Amino acid sequence: MEFLNELVQILGQQYVLTGEDAESYLADWRGRYSGKAVAVVRPGSVQEVAGVVKWCAANKVPIVPQGGNTGLCGAATPDSSGTALVVSLGRLNRVRGIDTDNDTMVVEAGCILQNVQQAARDADRLFPLSLAAEGSCTIGGNLATNAGGTQVLRYGNARELVLGLEVVTAEGEIMHGLRGLRKDNTGYDLRDIFIGSEGTLGIITAATIKLYPQPVAQCTALLGLNSVDDAVALLSAARKGFGPALTGFELIAGDCLHNVVQCYPQQRIPFEGESAQLPWYALLELSDSESAEHARERFETIVGDAIEAGLVADAVIAENIAQSKALWHLRESIPLAEKDLGKSIKHDVSIPVSHMAEFVETTNAALQAKFPGIQHIIFGHLGDGNLHYNVARGQYSEDQLLAKQDAVYEVVHESVHKFSGSISAEHGVGQLKRDVLPRYKDPVEMDLMRRIKKALDPQGIMNPGKVLAGPT
Ligand code: FAD
Repeated sequence: MEFLNELVQILGQQYVLTGEDAESYLADWRGRYSGKAVAVVRPGSVQEVAGVVKWCAANKVPIVPQGGNTGLCGAATPDSSGTALVVSLGRLNRVRGIDTDNDTMVVEAGCILQNVQQAARDADRLFPLSLAAEGSCTIGGNLATNAGGTQVLRYGNARELVLGLEVVTAEGEIMHGLRGLRKDNTGYDLRDIFIGSEGTLGIITAATIKLYPQPVAQCTALLGLNSVDDAVALLSAARKGFGPALTGFELIAGDCLHNVVQCYPQQRIPFEGESAQLPWYALLELSDSESAEHARERFETIVGDAIEAGLVADAVIAENIAQSKALWHLRESIPLAEKDLGKSIKHDVSIPVSHMAEFVETTNAALQAKFPGIQHIIFGHLGDGNLHYNVARGQYSEDQLLAKQDAVYEVVHESVHKFSGSISAEHGVGQLKRDVLPRYKDPVEMDLMRRIKKALDPQGIMNPGKVLAGPT
C-alpha cells in the first residue's frame, strides 16, 4: 500500500480501490476474462488523470483504461500479473457545454452514453450513437472502440460523430484538441489515431461530439423473410425508397427471436403461424421529418412493393412508439438471451453486403460439416455489412463447445478473409483477436501500427497486450 501513497495523495483515499472494492473492475462483461491489478483508481478530473499517468510513467506501471466495462473482447481487463493499474473514467461524467448553433457538445469521457443522448435531447438535438449497452457504456469507451451500433447506416460509426478530443498521453501530457470544427486540415489527424485505439495509445478524457436535428417521428417495422438473399435485395430497395430516412436495418435469424421469448416470456414475436417460424427477419427503422403518419405511409408503400416482389413474407409495422420500442427491445434482448443460455463462440465480422448471403451459406455449411449439430446465432447490422455470427452449443455440452473454439474461429475467420471481410467489424481486437490479427491484416499495416504504438507510448505502458502482442 505504501507504493500507492502518491496516488492516494493525488486522488484521495476513497478513489484508490484495492481488495474487494476493486473486484468488479477486474472481469469483463461476458465473464470470459478476469485479471488482477495493483489497484483501481477513479480520477475525477483531467488533471488527476494526467497526475496518475505521470506516476505510472515514472514507475513503469502498466495502465488499463476502463469506461463502462461493457467491451466484448477483453480490452478493459488487466492481465493476471497484478502489476497494472486500472484507470476507471466513470467520475469524469460532466457535460462541459452545448453549442446549438454549431451543433456540438463537449462531454467528458466517463459520461454514460444514455446520458449523452438525453443531454442532446434536452437541447432539442439528436446524438445518434445507439447500442444495447448504452445504459452502461461510456462515450470514452465508445470512442476508444470506435463503436458502431444500430444507426451507422445513416450517421456512421463513433469516429464520424466526433470533431475533437482531449487526451492524456502515455507520458501524462494533456492534448487539448477539443475543436468543434468540421474542417481542419492542419496536418496529421491525431484525433483519428486515438479513436479505435482501445486505450493502447492514451486516455481520452473528453470529446467534442456532433449533434443532429431530432427526427420529427420514427417508425419501426419487423419483416419476415425467407433468405439472406431476400434481405440484401430488400436493403437495396429500402435504401432507394427511403434514402437517408432509413436509419436502421438489422438482420435477425429466427432462432435469435425464439431464444429471446424463451428467456423473457413477457416478450413476444409479433407474428402468428408460419410467419412466426421464418428463418430470417429484418428490423427497419425510418426517421421522418414530417410526421408519424407520413413515416407509416412510406413504410406501407415500400413494404407493400417488397411483398409483391416476393422479397418479404410477412410484415408488422409499429402503430405507435410503444410498439416501435417493443420491436427494438426484441432486437436488443438478443445478446442478453444468448448470454443467459450459456457460453457461445462470438464473431463480429463485416463482409461486403453483396457477398453476405454466400458468406452465411458457405460458413454455415463448413461449420456443420466439421461440427454437426452446432447452432448458429446470427444477427447484426446488415445495413453496414456487419454480422454477429455466433455459434452456440446445440447438441454439445458447454465444455465440448469451448474445446472447439479455436477450430470454430479458424473456419469463420478463413471464410471472412475469403470474402474480403474484417474479423472485427465494431467490437475491436482487445485480447480476443490480438493473436489472429497478424494473420489477416496486411503486414505493412501491422508494422505501421507497431511504429505508431512505439512513437506514442515509448515505454509500452498503455494497455499492454491489447490489440498488439508482445513488446513494441
Ligand atoms: P470499456 O469496455 O470499459 O473499454 C473498452 C475499451 O476502451 C478498452 O480497451 C478500454 O481500455 C478502452 N477505454 C475505455 N475508456 C477509455 C478512455 N476514456 N480512453 C481510452 N481508452 C478507453 N459495440 C458496438 O460497437 N456496437 C454494438 O451494437 C454493441 N452492442 C453491445 C451490446 C451489449 C449488450 C454489450 C454488453 C456490448 C455491446 N457492444 C457493442 C460493445 C461495447 O458496449 C462497446 O464496445 C462500448 O463502446 C464499450 O464502451 P465502455 O465504456 O464499456 O468501454
